Amino acid sequence: PAPKRLSAPEYAAGILAGNRTILGRAITLVESTLPADQALAQEVLQAVLPHTGRSLRVGITGVPGVGKSTFIEALGRYLVETLGKQLAVLAVDPSSQRGGGSILGDKTRMPWLSAHSAAFIRPSPAGTSLGGVARATREALLLCEAAGHDVIFVETVGVGQSETTVHGMVDFFLLLMLAGAGDELQGLKRGIMEMADALCITKADQGNEQAARRARVDYQSALHLFPPSPSGQAQPVLLTSAVSGTGVAEVWEVIENYAAATRQNGYFQKRRQQQQLQWLHQSIVQELEARFYAAAAVRQRLPDTQQAVAAGRLTPFAAATELLALSADLTKTP
Ligand code: GDP
Repeated sequence: PAPKRLSAPEYAAGILAGNRTILGRAITLVESTLPADQALAQEVLQAVLPHTGRSLRVGITGVPGVGKSTFIEALGRYLVETLGKQLAVLAVDPSSQRGGGSILGDKTRMPWLSAHSAAFIRPSPAGTSLGGVARATREALLLCEAAGHDVIFVETVGVGQSETTVHGMVDFFLLLMLAGAGDELQGLKRGIMEMADALCITKADQGNEQAARRARVDYQSALHLFPPSPSGQAQPVLLTSAVSGTGVAEVWEVIENYAAATRQNGYFQKRRQQQQLQWLHQSIVQELEARFYAAAAVRQRLPDTQQAVAAGRLTPFAAATELLALSADLTKTP
């Protein structure tokens, strides 16, 4: 039988009590596109909001095959087993569709964590728009914090725009890299390297150690070409092996030291505030866009206008102005 529908206070109480089933259902609610679910989700979020914000949020990115899931399993296990932390692992993959394709956040990739009650793993929400996936993940992150998770990992694949999105929701952004992957990849990663609070060269083991050390020197000098990070902290380049465990505890030490130093200099709080304001802006833009395209007059007129623009009879700007005039009342939810 379908589980009984809970009220917002019931959801909130369950989440705050650390009930994982209710946490999972609440995340399903924030991922839903049904208006009734959305409304309930906002009530739940509002109720738990005073209990959020206390975790350390860490973004982890890198190309497929760099070793993200193996690394998350190793670092996560260290956090849970050695440090006694409660960990949540979320993922952002806009190309993922439930039931097919997505590899991020797949529980079979992190067997030890998946089996442990102190770790909560959630695959990427389905969705073709990065904005929609980002929103659901941000809200899931808040719910996990309210449920008592002290550390949240947000994993993403190092392709496209999703790194920027994840960077916009975490306190610390870790870029995993392979040794000897070549200049082309390094060039491709420039903008992302600049965003990273630390670089981590993976698979520094089994005869690969020397190549890893050489790569560290290369990346260290590449980082010197960038302006200093606004955090006021150096961007270290670390060597790790998830297989042997080398460097895994050091990565956590770097993250904790970073958090302590940026709390001290105020950057930690400032970064979160900027993220909140950015999220507000994105929410407005997304909502306006949704309402615009849902307006009956726009839907009716759009095909003709698109044809006129495609044929070069009307400029895109004039067309947009015309359509916006038709949808003048955007105060209503679609
Ligand atoms: P992802 O696609 O970034 O999540 O990468 P995976 O974690 O699935 O790892 C890709 C491949 O690299 C797998 O075959 C892993 O066994 C291997 N791998 C991951 N971490 C290490 C490591 O520290 N050392 C070695 N030698 N292999 C690793």
